Amino acid sequence: MSLWEKDINDIHFNSLNKNIETDILIIGGGITGLTTLYYLKDYQSICLVEKNTIGCGVTKNTTGKITYLQGAIHVDLMNNINYEVASLYLKSQITAISLIKKIIKKEKISCNLEQVSSFLHAEKKKDFSKLEAEKNFLLDNYIPVQEHNHAISVVDTYVFNPEKYLNGLKNILQNKTIYEHTNITNITFKNGKYYCNANSSLIIAKKVIIACHYPFFLFPFCLPLKSHIEKSYLIAYKTTTNEHNSGITISNPGYSYRYYQDGKAIYKICLASSHRSTLKQNDKDNFLNVQKKFHIPSDKIVAKWSNVDIITEDKLPFIDEIKNNMYIATGFNTWGMTNGILAAKILSDKILNKENEFAPLFKIQRKNFYKVKSFFSNTFFSIYGFINSHCFKKWYPNTLHFIKNNGQKIAIYVDQNNKRHSVYPICPHLKCGLIFNEEEKTWDCPCHSSRFDLDGNCIKGPSTKNISCKK
Ligand SMILES: Cc1cc2nc3c(=O)[nH]c(=O)nc-3n(C[C@H](O)[C@H](O)[C@H](O)COP(=O)(O)OP(=O)(O)OC[C@H]3O[C@@H](n4cnc5c(N)ncnc54)[C@H](O)[C@@H]3O)c2cc1C
Repeated sequence: MSLWEKDINDIHFNSLNKNIETDILIIGGGITGLTTLYYLKDYQSICLVEKNTIGCGVTKNTTGKITYLQGAIHVDLMNNINYEVASLYLKSQITAISLIKKIIKKEKISCNLEQVSSFLHAEKKKDFSKLEAEKNFLLDNYIPVQEHNHAISVVDTYVFNPEKYLNGLKNILQNKTIYEHTNITNITFKNGKYYCNANSSLIIAKKVIIACHYPFFLFPFCLPLKSHIEKSYLIAYKTTTNEHNSGITISNPGYSYRYYQDGKAIYKICLASSHRSTLKQNDKDNFLNVQKKFHIPSDKIVAKWSNVDIITEDKLPFIDEIKNNMYIATGFNTWGMTNGILAAKILSDKILNKENEFAPLFKIQRKNFYKVKSFFSNTFFSIYGFINSHCFKKWYPNTLHFIKNNGQKIAIYVDQNNKRHSVYPICPHLKCGLIFNEEEKTWDCPCHSSRFDLDGNCIKGPSTKNISCKK
């Protein structure tokens, strides 16, 4: 459980059990999907579907920083693309911060929004010049920057509780058409309309917005070749002082932290051990690394969780129309609080035929994106992840056994109450072998981040199917 999960409110929506027709269908009820619905709330015929419950996806596992100091991203954009793109990205993130503040203020959403200083740290000598370059870039763009020992900081950034923000939106959007427990498994295009299979019903839509984090379909778009998945580990522990700041390091793997105050209780949330999801799969060690890095006393830990996000090769999200009236918002590079809001604004502006100055920055056919090196590295790591997940021996607890039935591998986990949980440990998405996550008691796909609970229910896509086995 992440620190935010306990705050998900009681407003819930029915699942879809009939065929419907709508002008706009939004798929996914995370920060991106729900904020898009908010911007389009005056539209007459609009519907949002969520495969589980609103806010239960990646958004519930975030650190909840709202900042433009995102590592040395502007230096990377300057080096890899150009100065103008870096400047426009900075402007887009500052705009996203003001958009989210505006929504929170206008709708009086109580979500522990707090203005804090954001720090960027350079731990290694090789990062000092990058820190200097990021500082100079920010100064050049009229951002006041403070200098510290091997760190810089800015003041106009925020932290919040992402689930309380989504609760606020749920309150406002209660009378819109929202379906929970409604899983879109297939989309086909016929006579200018999209036919979307959901549970055993059909949704016919003129426009579809894919806001489901990792798209469940391969074509069009083929995300696996344009991105990779990064996994990180977080621990929240009780502390006595709120230092009113948040921070991140330049290097990768690095670390990140923030404070969270809820009434009198103060927590520090610490993140470390980030890695490509196809590598370093021993979650126990990864959590221990976080604990060691931040000297966290075991008895103060209140929550421990992992999270994944989609990393694009040029560090810019994809927010665009993929084909006729089908739109996508994904690849937020671990900065989805700002980019999710921005995506909601850009896509709703597109639908309302309004200009948005940031739309060209996130186009899927942008120049500079396709680099031979990154294409091959993604292909290599996808294949490596696939082979590794099937062939190399892994460590498993002795409460887990494998058997074969009619040539099919079945994994059986015996829990503390001696209850047996059987699953087929292969991801239905693209057939990667699943890894047993002993710490969180889930089956995780190292290739594209699908997750399943002990009984094989899919708790995170792109898989649209369960892996349950009634044995
Ligand atoms: C460790 C970590 C820390 C982070 N910290 C920060 C931070 O401090 N600040 C920041 O800006 N960003 C942060 N991020 C990034 C941010 O959390 C994500 O980019 C963002 O939450 C993504 O939001 P989303 O709405 O796109 O996806 P989600 O929240 O995952 O929402 C997508 C929804 O779609 C649903 N869905 C999926 N498939 C289907 C389907 N077939 N049918 C119907 N529904 C479907 C899912 O159930 C889910 O609820 C962090 C990321 C990581 C990994």
